[in-house]
Amino acid sequence: MKVAIVGSGIAGLAASIRLCHKGYDVSVYEANDYPGGKLHAFNLGEYRFDGGPSLFTMPQYVNELFSLADKNPSNYFDFEQVKDSCTYLWEDKTRISAKSDPESFADEVYNVLRFPKSELLEYFDHIQNIYNHSASIFLEKSLHKTKTWLSKETLLALLKIRQYDLLKSMHRANVIRLGEPHLVQLFDRFATYNGSHPHKAPGILNVIPWLEHGFGTFFPKGGMEQIPKSLYQLAKEMGVKFHFNSRVDEIIVKNKKAIGLMVGGKEIIANKVVSNMDVHYTYRKLMPEIKAPEKTLNQERSSSALVFYWGIKKEFKSLGLHNILFSERYKEEFDSMFDGRDIIDDPTIYINISSKLEKSDAPEGCENWFVMINAPHHENQDWNEISKRTKKAVIKKLNRMLNADIEPLIEQEKIWTPEGIQEDTLSYQGALYGNASNSQFSAFLRHPNFSSSIDNLFFCGGSVHPGGGIPLALLSGKITSEII
Ligand SMILES: Cc1cc2nc3c(=O)[nH]c(=O)nc-3n(C[C@H](O)[C@H](O)[C@H](O)COP(=O)(O)OP(=O)(O)OC[C@H]3O[C@@H](n4cnc5c(N)ncnc54)[C@H](O)[C@@H]3O)c2cc1C
Repeated sequence: MKVAIVGSGIAGLAASIRLCHKGYDVSVYEANDYPGGKLHAFNLGEYRFDGGPSLFTMPQYVNELFSLADKNPSNYFDFEQVKDSCTYLWEDKTRISAKSDPESFADEVYNVLRFPKSELLEYFDHIQNIYNHSASIFLEKSLHKTKTWLSKETLLALLKIRQYDLLKSMHRANVIRLGEPHLVQLFDRFATYNGSHPHKAPGILNVIPWLEHGFGTFFPKGGMEQIPKSLYQLAKEMGVKFHFNSRVDEIIVKNKKAIGLMVGGKEIIANKVVSNMDVHYTYRKLMPEIKAPEKTLNQERSSSALVFYWGIKKEFKSLGLHNILFSERYKEEFDSMFDGRDIIDDPTIYINISSKLEKSDAPEGCENWFVMINAPHHENQDWNEISKRTKKAVIKKLNRMLNADIEPLIEQEKIWTPEGIQEDTLSYQGALYGNASNSQFSAFLRHPNFSSSIDNLFFCGGSVHPGGGIPLALLSGKITSEII
């Protein structure tokens, strides 16, 4: 049985390994000349940068792929647990060094904000409960198979649904459960992990920080690029065939059955087709003649990102691996992103500095700054103009909050805009996580991992169930291969 996979993003790699393990003859067709899609890396002078994701959680989903193939993961891929999950800075000089484990985090929050430790630990218990009751349904199974809904586990979870804050927004739930404004902002920011608005995304998504604080945050030796590289290595050893610089032009459909692909004018025949391409473009570009599920495709897209990669010729002892410098106008920042499709002049700044742990990522005495601003998805904005004015605003804020003069320290620079993300990863509107989760029905409105109208056609990746981000994309590869 031949399987043809469109795209070698992290989900396409996971699906290729799982299907190969099940005995399929798997070929992957990738438009770029490298595997990994959004997970890629590059050098600017002597600086190394991971281009896309910088935060690694749930490494067990990567390890699982090596174990499946009876290989020792550490022979391919090494990572360490990071104790300090993130340094949070506010304009009023509040500074929280968030530890990964809830106990130490609650100690730090008490020391800085005098917020009772027991209340924060209660909050963590609450989100852990949400995770324990909902993960196996919402993340690990298809929501579009009757079997999922008839299980005892699902029925028990549904009975508890009111306790999951499904009908409140993340923000509302955080105000009620935490109240303290810095903490509310800190936990609201996890809405950005799936590209949503904390005042609109359902409170059940407050489960997201549990992935970071319950399971920990990790750093792959050699950088994030090692995740797809090691999986590519494993897949090749198992016998998966990769074709790079091979953009798929069409999914061939005959009599409501997918029977193969058109790649560079050549017909590739397959028994099953899996698309790891953004589901929107899969319908619009690869099967324009097929009736598309318009309601699903027309959902609001998730946010995108404006990234400044800066080689900085100085070390900043006050910063860690992950750093957030908060906006003072947080709600307005999200309103502007989702309603105005713009970036405000006081944006929240995320800085990742992998050279804090991987010294060779920057020359001595220097740091590689990945500076990310949450941005609206691409809708023909003038990104040249937005990048210029946002860079000015970011530098002004950094100078103020870090008591520094940043501009003369930037000796290397590259900028990635939402339009660039769209072009380089063929993600519709440059959305990082497919559709936004700005309603309580979002989870149900994501595209399933299979087509209900075309036989032998399947989907995996951040734009379909269960959603975006590395752990969920890996799970989508798992769900898809199980359905096949
Ligand atoms: C700037 C940025 C920061 C992020 N930060 C994080 C983070 O810190 N942590 C985290 O977990 N996640 C993060 N994410 C999200 C994460 O990168 C994605 O959710 C995940 O990588 C998506 O993987 P995927 O398999 O769905 O697809 P993609 O990575 O989008 O890969 C799809 C692949 O398909 C190929 N392709 C598309 N169309 C065709 C075609 N017609 N023919 C052949 N090939 C095709 C593309 O070239 C691409 O290689 C971030 C993303 C970005 C861009």
